[in-house]
Amino acid sequence: MLTTVTCQFCQKKFQIFPYLAAKNARPYCSHKCYCLHKQTDEYIRQRFWEKVIIAKPEDCWLWQGARRQQYGQEYGRFLYQAKIHLAHRISYLFTYGPFLDDDCVLHKCDTPPCVNPTHLFLGTRNDNNIDKAKKGRARKVLIPQQAKEIFTLKGKYSLSKTAAMFNVHFMTISDIWHGRIWSWVTNDENAL
Ligand SMILES: [Zn+2]
Ligand SMILES: [Zn+2]
Repeated sequence: MLTTVTCQFCQKKFQIFPYLAAKNARPYCSHKCYCLHKQTDEYIRQRFWEKVIIAKPEDCWLWQGARRQQYGQEYGRFLYQAKIHLAHRISYLFTYGPFLDDDCVLHKCDTPPCVNPTHLFLGTRNDNNIDKAKKGRARKVLIPQQAKEIFTLKGKYSLSKTAAMFNVHFMTISDIWHGRIWSWVTNDENAL
């Protein structure tokens, strides 16, 4: 007789023996969920994007978490590596990689709580009108083989590189890597 519990990482329901459930001995549905939880950065990234209303690639993605006043404007804030950061700077970091502390992450859209990476660019205050950064890549329908292929690239390439390779939005890659979409074709790789 099995009992149904909820994975503490992906919220998926799965079945285990009741004595394990009672001890909370299997909080994760799969080895993948266990690993993702343990890989702190992955876990933090997931937590970060959960605080964002992810709209269409061209729209502003508004931060729903804590905010703070800075430069007379209200920005999102996010605790990362024991320091409080402006949320849009973390969005830039997670999407495009590290930059210098002195670098400014600026908004093309003039919307301080927006964390849509395609609305952000690196520079100084004067760079504002120079940069006309590219629009986000249009979402494209993938076939199962491609989804599987994308999944196997996890950890080998960055989000943006993989997105460019398949000409899809980077959030599509993120969703596949986290098992939020296409998990029925990528799941066999995650089995214990
Ligand atoms: Zn899970
Ligand atoms: Zn925006």
